[in-house]
Amino acid sequence: MAIERTLSIIKPDAVAKNVIGKIYSRFETNGLKIVAAQMRQLSQAEAEGFYAVHRERPFFKDLVSFMTSGPVMIQVLEGEGAILKNRELMGATDPKKAAPGTIRADFAESIDANAVHGSDAPETAAVEIAYFFPTLAIHSR
Ligand code: GDP
Ligand code: MG
Repeated sequence: MAIERTLSIIKPDAVAKNVIGKIYSRFETNGLKIVAAQMRQLSQAEAEGFYAVHRERPFFKDLVSFMTSGPVMIQVLEGEGAILKNRELMGATDPKKAAPGTIRADFAESIDANAVHGSDAPETAAVEIAYFFPTLAIHSR
Protein backbone atom coordinates (compact mmCIF):
# COMPACT_ATOMS: atom_id res chain seq x y z
CA MET A 1 0.00 0.00 0.00
CA ALA A 2 1.16 3.52 -0.70
CA ILE A 3 2.42 6.04 1.85
CA GLU A 4 -0.37 8.57 2.34
CA ARG A 5 -1.07 11.65 4.39
CA THR A 6 -4.34 12.43 6.11
CA LEU A 7 -5.71 15.31 8.18
CA SER A 8 -6.66 14.56 11.78
CA ILE A 9 -8.31 16.88 14.29
CA ILE A 10 -8.64 16.18 17.99
CA LYS A 11 -11.91 17.99 18.69
CA PRO A 12 -12.69 20.31 21.64
CA ASP A 13 -14.27 17.55 23.77
CA ALA A 14 -11.15 15.35 23.66
CA VAL A 15 -8.79 18.32 24.19
CA ALA A 16 -10.88 19.29 27.26
CA LYS A 17 -10.66 15.69 28.51
CA ASN A 18 -6.85 15.90 28.41
CA VAL A 19 -6.43 12.86 26.15
CA ILE A 20 -4.32 14.35 23.32
CA GLY A 21 -1.38 12.16 24.37
CA LYS A 22 -3.47 9.01 24.58
CA ILE A 23 -4.82 9.63 21.06
CA TYR A 24 -1.34 10.45 19.69
CA SER A 25 -0.12 7.20 21.21
CA ARG A 26 -2.70 5.26 19.19
CA PHE A 27 -1.50 6.91 15.99
CA GLU A 28 2.13 6.16 16.78
CA THR A 29 1.64 2.55 17.86
CA ASN A 30 -0.28 1.92 14.63
CA GLY A 31 2.38 3.19 12.26
CA LEU A 32 1.09 6.73 11.73
CA LYS A 33 3.68 9.50 12.10
CA ILE A 34 2.75 13.03 13.15
CA VAL A 35 4.46 15.17 10.50
CA ALA A 36 2.78 18.54 11.25
CA ALA A 37 0.71 19.84 14.16
CA GLN A 38 -0.90 22.98 15.49
CA MET A 39 -3.17 23.70 18.44
CA ARG A 40 -5.64 26.54 18.26
CA GLN A 41 -9.19 27.71 18.49
CA LEU A 42 -10.96 27.87 15.13
CA SER A 43 -12.93 30.95 14.09
CA GLN A 44 -16.49 30.48 12.90
CA ALA A 45 -15.42 31.22 9.31
CA GLU A 46 -12.65 28.61 9.46
CA ALA A 47 -14.95 25.92 10.86
CA GLU A 48 -17.65 26.74 8.29
CA GLY A 49 -15.09 26.58 5.47
CA PHE A 50 -13.63 23.32 6.71
CA TYR A 51 -17.04 21.64 6.92
CA ALA A 52 -18.47 23.33 3.80
CA VAL A 53 -19.55 19.95 2.33
CA HIS A 54 -21.99 19.63 5.24
CA ARG A 55 -23.48 23.14 5.01
CA GLU A 56 -26.93 21.93 3.93
CA ARG A 57 -27.15 19.29 6.67
CA PRO A 58 -29.45 19.89 9.66
CA PHE A 59 -26.55 19.50 12.11
CA PHE A 60 -24.25 22.07 10.40
CA LYS A 61 -24.89 24.92 12.87
CA ASP A 62 -24.34 22.66 15.87
CA LEU A 63 -21.20 21.23 14.28
CA VAL A 64 -19.66 24.67 13.67
CA SER A 65 -20.60 25.88 17.13
CA PHE A 66 -19.09 22.75 18.71
CA MET A 67 -15.87 22.96 16.67
CA THR A 68 -15.33 26.58 17.77
CA SER A 69 -16.19 25.93 21.44
CA GLY A 70 -12.59 25.34 22.52
CA PRO A 71 -9.10 24.65 21.23
CA VAL A 72 -8.52 21.81 18.78
CA MET A 73 -5.33 19.90 17.97
CA ILE A 74 -4.83 19.62 14.21
CA GLN A 75 -2.27 17.22 12.73
CA VAL A 76 -1.11 15.63 9.51
CA LEU A 77 -0.57 11.86 9.84
CA GLU A 78 1.69 10.01 7.44
CA GLY A 79 2.02 6.28 6.87
CA GLU A 80 1.01 3.28 4.77
CA GLY A 81 -2.66 3.59 3.91
CA ALA A 82 -2.90 6.44 6.42
CA ILE A 83 -6.38 7.59 5.36
CA LEU A 84 -8.15 4.28 5.94
CA LYS A 85 -5.92 3.36 8.88
CA ASN A 86 -6.88 6.56 10.69
CA ARG A 87 -10.59 5.98 9.95
CA GLU A 88 -10.26 2.47 11.42
CA LEU A 89 -8.57 3.79 14.54
CA MET A 90 -11.29 6.48 14.90
CA GLY A 91 -14.30 4.15 14.70
CA ALA A 92 -17.83 5.00 13.54
CA THR A 93 -19.13 8.60 13.60
CA ASP A 94 -21.63 7.71 16.35
CA PRO A 95 -19.59 6.50 19.34
CA LYS A 96 -22.46 4.19 20.34
CA LYS A 97 -21.83 2.31 17.07
CA ALA A 98 -18.03 2.51 17.18
CA ALA A 99 -16.17 -0.79 17.57
CA PRO A 100 -14.62 -1.47 21.00
CA GLY A 101 -11.07 -0.19 21.28
CA THR A 102 -11.53 2.61 18.76
CA ILE A 103 -10.83 6.24 19.70
CA ARG A 104 -14.50 7.22 19.51
CA ALA A 105 -15.65 4.20 21.52
CA ASP A 106 -13.12 5.02 24.23
CA PHE A 107 -13.14 8.84 24.35
CA ALA A 108 -16.30 10.21 22.66
CA GLU A 109 -19.59 11.14 24.32
CA SER A 110 -22.04 11.63 21.48
CA ILE A 111 -22.38 11.96 17.69
CA ASP A 112 -21.60 15.70 17.89
CA ALA A 113 -18.86 15.53 20.54
CA ASN A 114 -17.10 12.60 18.92
CA ALA A 115 -13.44 13.29 19.78
CA VAL A 116 -11.77 13.21 16.36
CA HIS A 117 -12.00 14.15 12.70
CA GLY A 118 -10.23 12.23 9.92
CA SER A 119 -10.19 12.75 6.16
CA ASP A 120 -12.24 10.13 4.32
CA ALA A 121 -10.52 9.87 0.89
CA PRO A 122 -7.35 10.96 -0.94
CA GLU A 123 -9.11 13.97 -2.52
CA THR A 124 -10.53 15.27 0.77
CA ALA A 125 -7.22 14.59 2.56
CA ALA A 126 -5.35 16.80 0.05
CA VAL A 127 -7.90 19.62 0.37
CA GLU A 128 -8.07 19.41 4.18
CA ILE A 129 -4.28 19.30 4.64
CA ALA A 130 -3.88 22.35 2.39
CA TYR A 131 -6.63 24.11 4.36
CA PHE A 132 -4.56 24.11 7.56
CA PHE A 133 -0.92 23.56 6.57
CA PRO A 134 1.28 25.24 3.99
CA THR A 135 3.67 22.69 2.42
CA LEU A 136 6.60 24.13 4.37
CA ALA A 137 4.97 23.22 7.70
CA ILE A 138 4.97 19.49 6.88
CA HIS A 139 8.01 17.41 7.86
CA SER A 140 7.87 14.17 5.90
CA ARG A 141 9.96 11.43 7.56
P1 GDP B 1 -17.12 11.69 10.19
O1 GDP B 1 -16.41 11.71 8.87
O2 GDP B 1 -17.16 10.32 10.81
O3 GDP B 1 -16.59 12.71 11.16
O4 GDP B 1 -18.65 12.05 9.93
P2 GDP B 1 -19.33 13.03 8.84
O5 GDP B 1 -18.31 13.54 7.86
O6 GDP B 1 -20.53 12.33 8.31
O7 GDP B 1 -19.86 14.24 9.73
C1 GDP B 1 -18.98 15.24 10.18
C2 GDP B 1 -19.25 15.51 11.64
O8 GDP B 1 -20.56 16.06 11.77
C3 GDP B 1 -19.26 14.26 12.54
O9 GDP B 1 -17.99 13.88 12.99
C4 GDP B 1 -20.13 14.72 13.68
O10 GDP B 1 -19.38 15.51 14.61
C5 GDP B 1 -21.14 15.62 13.00
N1 GDP B 1 -22.36 14.86 12.68
C6 GDP B 1 -22.54 13.93 11.71
N2 GDP B 1 -23.78 13.43 11.71
C7 GDP B 1 -24.42 14.07 12.72
C8 GDP B 1 -25.75 14.02 13.21
O11 GDP B 1 -26.61 13.27 12.75
N3 GDP B 1 -26.05 14.86 14.26
C9 GDP B 1 -25.11 15.71 14.80
N4 GDP B 1 -25.46 16.50 15.81
N5 GDP B 1 -23.84 15.78 14.36
C10 GDP B 1 -23.50 14.99 13.32
MG1 MG C 1 -16.35 13.17 7.39
